Amino acid sequence: MITYHTRQFIKLFASLIQDIYHRGKRWQLIIPITVVTLGLLIPQQMTIPVRGATPEDWNENSYWAYPWGKSITHKGIDIFADRGTPVLSASYGLVVWSGYQNVGGNAVIVMGPKWRFHYYAHLDSLDAFTLQPVAMGSVLGTVGNTGNAAGKPYHLHYTISTPLPHFWRWDDAIQGWQKMFYLRPDDYLR
Ligand SMILES: [Zn+2]
Repeated sequence: MITYHTRQFIKLFASLIQDIYHRGKRWQLIIPITVVTLGLLIPQQMTIPVRGATPEDWNENSYWAYPWGKSITHKGIDIFADRGTPVLSASYGLVVWSGYQNVGGNAVIVMGPKWRFHYYAHLDSLDAFTLQPVAMGSVLGTVGNTGNAAGKPYHLHYTISTPLPHFWRWDDAIQGWQKMFYLRPDDYLR
């Protein structure tokens, strides 16, 4: 899901740039560049996305845990909580997707400041709709174990991804280059 949205975002941006370029009005490139820059400048405030949770509710090695099934590495953190605990939006933003898919189960994707995508998965119930604006702390649903978490302890899977590569995040871990696109939630939540 995440990579799909990241890809769509990059495609949309690239076609916009190409379009402007081909129309020969290159000065107009300032428009998308300004919009992206402004988005990057929006300050980001964040909260732990499960009501009442503390950093003790996830393992600090949760991010990039390996081996991790088909995903190879775990691109986010798993915050454990009782079933039905409210899942909160970690940042303010716009819900860009809310629904069910096989892997994530009931899941929500919020686009927040700095063009980052916040992915919330395995929810029990969903309380967010596509294009809904959300504040930091808005309820998106409740903690569950839907999708490929079925039968496992209830938890929220949370991923932050960015379509703008953070080159300085690349390291020599397994799939380390993908760290340019999947940020470490602990850096923002601890
Ligand atoms: Zn997970």
